[in-house]
Amino acid sequence: MKQRTRWALSVATLCLISLSLAAQEAEVDISACRGIYTVLKAMRDGAPKEQVSSMLETLLDTRPYQVMFKHYNRSWRPNHLPKPVFKRMILSLQFAEEYSAGENERADTMRARWTKYYPNLSPYEKQLRQLEGANLSKLINDAVRFAQEWLPPEWKIPKFYFPVIPNGGSPAFALENTQGYDFLQLAQGTIGEIDLNWLAGTVSHESHHLGMRSTMPGSLSAADAMAFRVVSLCVAEGVATYFISGPPPGRAPAFKGTSFHVFTGELAKAWNDQVSAEEEILQHQTMLLDKAMAGLLTEEAFNAELREYWLNGVVGRAYTLGAEMFGAIYTAFGKEGVFAAIQNPRRLFELYNAAIDAKPEALKRCVRVPDKAVKQALAIGRSVPLARGALPLRTQRAGTQKGKRDVHG
Ligand SMILES: [Zn+2]
Repeated sequence: MKQRTRWALSVATLCLISLSLAAQEAEVDISACRGIYTVLKAMRDGAPKEQVSSMLETLLDTRPYQVMFKHYNRSWRPNHLPKPVFKRMILSLQFAEEYSAGENERADTMRARWTKYYPNLSPYEKQLRQLEGANLSKLINDAVRFAQEWLPPEWKIPKFYFPVIPNGGSPAFALENTQGYDFLQLAQGTIGEIDLNWLAGTVSHESHHLGMRSTMPGSLSAADAMAFRVVSLCVAEGVATYFISGPPPGRAPAFKGTSFHVFTGELAKAWNDQVSAEEEILQHQTMLLDKAMAGLLTEEAFNAELREYWLNGVVGRAYTLGAEMFGAIYTAFGKEGVFAAIQNPRRLFELYNAAIDAKPEALKRCVRVPDKAVKQALAIGRSVPLARGALPLRTQRAGTQKGKRDVHG
């Protein structure tokens, strides 16, 4: 009996351990929001400058702000936003002589966002109460778990630190194991009211990128490697957009399984415009594929394509075309088809066309990929023996590069 109790207890303990592990996809930290509130309140209540300055000094040494300074002072932009400058920018809300416009471009932009909140702290208070009252850990962890469902099971989203940091600069950023969000720029339903569903949807979308893995075969000729990138350029955004961000229906039916509504007014309009331009967008992709296979698409030209065509605009074209392709594949072949395309993007066009054939009624408005492009994609890495001296490509994480685009500046 005793034995059995012990056994039952250890099973229960094991369950508890695995439960608590499962509950920690993200480490949520909103301490900086309250910290800054205390500082702003003290300034408004007339505290002396020395006192506020020392409060700020302590606060800016805490983990959320340390990560934030790391983000603004990355290796490629050292001294972009020095801590003393940021500190004086905040002090200047009350003590004008502390900072003058033109001193630091980043701090200038930030200051404009702080001055919206400072004269009347009640929207800030309201937002703060809402964040503190929400079960943010649950919200974020659920969002991460949802994203995980749309990744092949062996691709795990790494755990990350999730601070909300009042700063007024980048609305969101990703750095090492951190996804940071700006308290002053969280999407709002009405002023002072954070749209928590938008926040969860955005975190979920970004987390999906973090879980993406490179699928590029180890050694490809330079031309095939470029062709592979062209073929997979819509994959990461397509999956994350269709299954998580909840766009309106396009040519493929809308996905019913997401509870996030990231596509609000302006985004929905941009989405619809692109759905009508899908023929052109697909043509553009097949033209690029021709170029790549002929060895005529350089790295610089491809990057310019990403920047100026595929990821540009309110909703990048890669988001729309990718979402539609995955929507069609899902409609015909379910999750299994989706994972087959994620894990081997060379099959994406093939699966997409096959989906249109399998569900002609539901997918009749979808634009077919020309057969030539389907064959080209399938032949990547198989057609020509490796050129002698072809450089082995360093593996890259498919999601990382594209993911950056969502987390601005
Ligand atoms: Zn994205």
